Order: sequence, then structure tokens, then C-alpha cells
Amino acid sequence: ATSKTGWNFDNSYARLPESLFTRQAPTPVRAPKPIILNDRLAASLGINAQALQTEEGAAVLAGNRVPEGAEPLAQAYAGHQFGHFTMLGDGRALLLGEQLTPRGERVDIQLKGSGRTRYSRRGDGRAALGPMLREYIISEAMNALGIPTTRSLAVVTTGESILRETEQPGAILTRVAASHLRVGTFQYAAAWGSSQDLQALADYTLNRHFPEADAEENRYLALLREVIRRQAALIAKWQLVGFIHGVMNTDNMALSGETIDYGPCAFMDVYDPATVFSSIDIQGRYAYGNQPHIAAWNLARFAETLLPLLHESDAEAVKLAEAAISDFNELYHRKWLGGMRAKLGIHNEEPEDESLIEDLLRMMQKERADYTNTFRALTLDKPEDTALYGTGEFTKWYELWQARLGRQTEPRSSSHQLMRSSNPAVIPRNHRVEEALEAAVEQGDYSVMERLLDVLSQPYAYSPEQEDYTTLPEPSSCPYRTFCGT
Ligand code: AMP
Ligand code: MG
Ligand code: MG
Repeated sequence: ATSKTGWNFDNSYARLPESLFTRQAPTPVRAPKPIILNDRLAASLGINAQALQTEEGAAVLAGNRVPEGAEPLAQAYAGHQFGHFTMLGDGRALLLGEQLTPRGERVDIQLKGSGRTRYSRRGDGRAALGPMLREYIISEAMNALGIPTTRSLAVVTTGESILRETEQPGAILTRVAASHLRVGTFQYAAAWGSSQDLQALADYTLNRHFPEADAEENRYLALLREVIRRQAALIAKWQLVGFIHGVMNTDNMALSGETIDYGPCAFMDVYDPATVFSSIDIQGRYAYGNQPHIAAWNLARFAETLLPLLHESDAEAVKLAEAAISDFNELYHRKWLGGMRAKLGIHNEEPEDESLIEDLLRMMQKERADYTNTFRALTLDKPEDTALYGTGEFTKWYELWQARLGRQTEPRSSSHQLMRSSNPAVIPRNHRVEEALEAAVEQGDYSVMERLLDVLSQPYAYSPEQEDYTTLPEPSSCPYRTFCGT
């Protein structure tokens, strides 16, 4: 039954084996206050955004009231964090249930910052306003960029302050996701569940995300292959826009192929494969250039959990898993190369395209050129605006590129269109995001963030108002750092 707000819950996850979750209601907060609501997303979910703004609506978003039909629970999962295997689980989040949308889709509605759970090892189970707004901004920007991602429906403040390095206003984010099934969920089931639990989880995942694979003869192998394919496509998209996730632990890899967990993520400015923003990633494990490699590593951990389901013979199962994993590089590379061709306005394929692309990237790294702005300038046909301009090397490259564009049947105008739809004019630049968060959290001024969200909602518009958001920060003595914001 649909409520007057439009909540229309089903709870298929709660029908899975009990070892995979713990039923629990959110911990109420003192004074819920909606800070930001995603009207468009709400509408697509069949939810009345206005009703969410009322006291009753906000009470749901704050966890003070469980909406009718929802059966809240904390999900169990495990994961490799920086390579080390640990037992995890929702330690500060709860799945309210799955919203059945007017389009017939099923999406998770999760409250992040909703209080302690059985899986909280340490920590208060709460979240601070700054990091929740940051997730809202970046996840919505990713969606506008055309990159699969969890979405942000709302942020409410709790009227409670929480202690981090300093005292911070507490907040709760309502996250919307295709699901919260992770590589780590399978690791949990494989390590602590029975073989029936693992199989139930695999069948559930197939049914929910990969119905075509479900019909295959070896459906668990089909599941593995499809998860690999989606991750290859996702990581290629990250690389193409310069997105650095920052904490690609196996518990932060969603099987649906959506980007999940916006903690220490940030966009690269100067092109450099070694770029790391996260303050705790000392070794550069999750550096920009390492993301495809880490994805393959995580997928191998996923494959290991499936071994008992892949084949009755252990040796055969390992062979099947290894063959599937070894496809990742090729799948990834094909997506990346196709995307890079599009960024350069190239429609057809020539073997030398790869070196043309590599040469450009090498020059960008050498000249410390801004990644996004270099492609933007090329899109606008203003090579003189790139940091590469003036070198003999670039002049030569530019001629080669122009000649390359001449060797396709499509007119220049269609190359131009292709470039415009492949090279964002604006990305969530770190100094702009910080500026918006500071105004919101320190001054209670949300206008800076609203304006930023607006600009980021159409990254390929190339509109004059966006110009202001393409400028780089003033040079600073300290590099930009992100934190596993809580
Ligand atoms: P994350 O870094 O967001 O992927 O979280 C890793 C693990 O730490 C998850 O199990 C979280 O639930 C848990 N966690 C993070 N922050 C808190 C917190 N404030 N209270 C309790 N658990 C937390
Ligand atoms: Mg996480
Ligand atoms: Mg996190």
C-alpha cells in the first residue's frame, strides 16, 4: 500500500537467511530538520517531495518514525580494507526497505548516520553534516556525468552535535541505491554463513540485478562475468572523468555496478596517475592510475567467494574463475579506449589511436596540465588555452590529431558534438566543494551549495554561467587532502 508521501516498501532483503542481517530500528534524534531535498529524484521514486518537508516526512528521514511497510535492518558484510580482511556490517546505517517505484524498479532506501547497530565496532553510529553534504554533492554530480552511482535523496540535521576532531552538527543522509549488495556481502556469507546462505545470496543477486544471467546454464559463472563486465565499464568511466574513489575496499564495491561510498573521493586536477587525495592512503594503493588494478583485485576476491558454486570440482572452479577475472583488463581497456576516442572526437578506429591518446596524456603529465580543462579547451577548439600550448611537441601532436579527424567520414561538427558530450565543462572541483561546505556548515548559508549543485547538474552544457566554475584554485602550499569523513 502506498502511503500519502508515496512510500511503497517491500523488504526482499529481510526474507534472506537471518545470518545476513539484523533487524533494528533507527535511533531517534532530537530535532530533525530537512536541509536539502532532491525533488527530481523523489518524483522519479514516486515520492512527494513536499510531504518529505513536513514534520512527519522529516521524521522518517531522521529515523524518528519508521514508515509503514518498512522493515529496517542492518546489513552484515565483511571486506578487505587496504588489503586486510575484516568483519564489518552497517555500523552507522540502516536499510529502511526497498522502494517500488512507479516505473517498476526496486531501489534501496538507506539512512546513513542513523545510530549504532550490532555491527558498530567503535564509533557513535552517527554522521556529520559536512561529509553527508559532500556525498550529496558528489554523488549527484556523478549521476549528472552519466556515471552509475548511488543517489542522494535528502540530508537532515539531527539537532544533536557529534564529536569528531571538533564538535560537528549531526546529520543523516538518505541514500538511494540499486542495492547495497557488495563484494563484501559475499565475503561475509562465504566466511561466516552456511553454504545455503551463500547460495541464497547469489540467487538473490542474480534475480535482482542479472535476470538474463539467471537463465544461463552456469548461472553463478554468468553472475561473476556480469559483475566483472559492469565494474570494467564503471572504472573506465571514472578514469575518463578523473574521478578518484579513494577507498576501494571490497566492502565499497557494489555488485550492481554503481559507485558507492563517497568518503575520501575527489576529482583529479593536474593529470598524474599517482594522484592520491586521501590522507590515510599513504602507499597510494588507491591512486588514480591504480584503480583498474585494484578493481581486478577486488573482483578476484569476489570470485573466490563463488568457487563452491562455480563447479563441483575445486580445480575446475578455480579455472573458470581465473578465466573470468583475466577478462577484466581487456573489458576495461576496450571501454577506456572507446571513451578516450570520444573525448578526442574520434568515431572510427585506427590502431595508432592509442599512441595518440598516450602522447597527449604524457604531455599533460609533464606540463602539469589540468585534466578536465585540457579536454575542455580542445572541445572548444581553443588549443591556446591548454597548458601544453607553445611546445613543439604539442604542435606536432595537434597536427596529427587534426589529420586523424580528417580520416573519418563524419563531418567536423559531429566530432565536435561527440567531444562536447564526452568532456565535462565542469566537475566538482575540490575548492568549490570545500567553499560550499564551509558556507553551509559554518554559516548555515546553503546558497553556495545550491548554486554549485545547479551548475553540476548539467556538466556537458558548456553554458556561460559555468565558466566561473572551471577556474583552478589559487596555488597553495598544502596539497588537497580528503578524509574518510564521518
Ligand atoms: P566506510 O569507511 O564508510 O566504508 O565504513 C567502514 C566501516 O566503518 C563500516 O562498517 C561502517 O559502518 C563503520 N563506521 C564508519 N563510521 C562509523 C561511525 N561513526 N560509527 C560506527 N561505525 C562506523
Ligand atoms: Mg563503506
Ligand atoms: Mg564511507
